[in-house]
Amino acid sequence: MPLVSMRQLLDEAAKGGYGVGAFNVNDMEQIQAIMEAARETRSPVIIQASRGARQFAQDRYLYHLILAASELYPEIPIAMHQDHGNSFETCKSAIELGFTSVMMDGSLKADGKTPSSFEENVEVTRKVVDFAHERGITVEGEIGVLGGVEDGHGAGGSGLDHITDPDQAVEFAERTGVDALAIAIGTSHGAYKFNKKPDGSVLKMDVLIAIHKRLPNTHLVMHGSSSVPKDLQDIINQYGGKLKETWGVPVEEIQLGIRNGVRKVNVDTDNRLAITGAIRKVLWESPEKFDPRDYMKPAREAMQKVVALRMTQFGQAGHAGDYTPVSIADIAKGYKDGSLSTRPLVAAK
Ligand SMILES: [Zn+2]
Repeated sequence: MPLVSMRQLLDEAAKGGYGVGAFNVNDMEQIQAIMEAARETRSPVIIQASRGARQFAQDRYLYHLILAASELYPEIPIAMHQDHGNSFETCKSAIELGFTSVMMDGSLKADGKTPSSFEENVEVTRKVVDFAHERGITVEGEIGVLGGVEDGHGAGGSGLDHITDPDQAVEFAERTGVDALAIAIGTSHGAYKFNKKPDGSVLKMDVLIAIHKRLPNTHLVMHGSSSVPKDLQDIINQYGGKLKETWGVPVEEIQLGIRNGVRKVNVDTDNRLAITGAIRKVLWESPEKFDPRDYMKPAREAMQKVVALRMTQFGQAGHAGDYTPVSIADIAKGYKDGSLSTRPLVAAK
């Protein structure tokens, strides 16, 4: 199946009342792990690459690897997404390369570190939406600022510094026409999200629910949503690692989000932990080994296990065959003739 529009994938998820995991990739083994998990659970999937990943792998490699995945797994709808585009140019280059979806993270300036003003965010996001929709490409925007730093991107600091204001979220969705909206509710990128199991004082699910009430048809996105499970931390530390104790976003909170408009859930750290734990175990137990396949195969399997579990927990499992993909050209027509709405439904306060 050709790569599909993320908008179609999320519209279908909204119809079905489930969330879709968006998993980050940097190399072939991660793509293989995601695709095997998608086949195993019959899940539609979002594969995303950050700017750091595009640089690390050279993005043409990533693009062609994902194309190979679409050939090898014709039954799986795949959207290919640019994670945290920092500028119009980054999003444009992703679209020109063949990504079917981009995130314009205008919550930060182009340096990927300094929080921007609301007006700057609206302006750059609107510009990306105009360029992208004309070409049938989906756009995710961000309002509010996430905590932490990942792949050199992020304002740092706590996830509580710039929680999304529901009124601003409404205005942002109306003025930009984004297809999906990332909001800041206290989560952070990276492994060190919370120093205890998060409760309502640090993870603002009430804000998410308030935004969903005002924007009932807008696809919400949860970033920094790895659960950082203890068993994955333990494997790393058992085999020579030195991770400090940390907590992620509990799966039941993500599921609460999914019941309240969350359609895309970004997961990266859990997969990084699974891969590193598996590699450490092999090299610790068998220090004589030197064939990379001896540790990459278990690493790939460990990631597949995590991804398949998340696909089941987010509810996307079993939905790969629900719909026929609409071509990107027809999606572009839909934006043009208005059959694909870019005006959010806004409910009264
Ligand atoms: Zn993110």
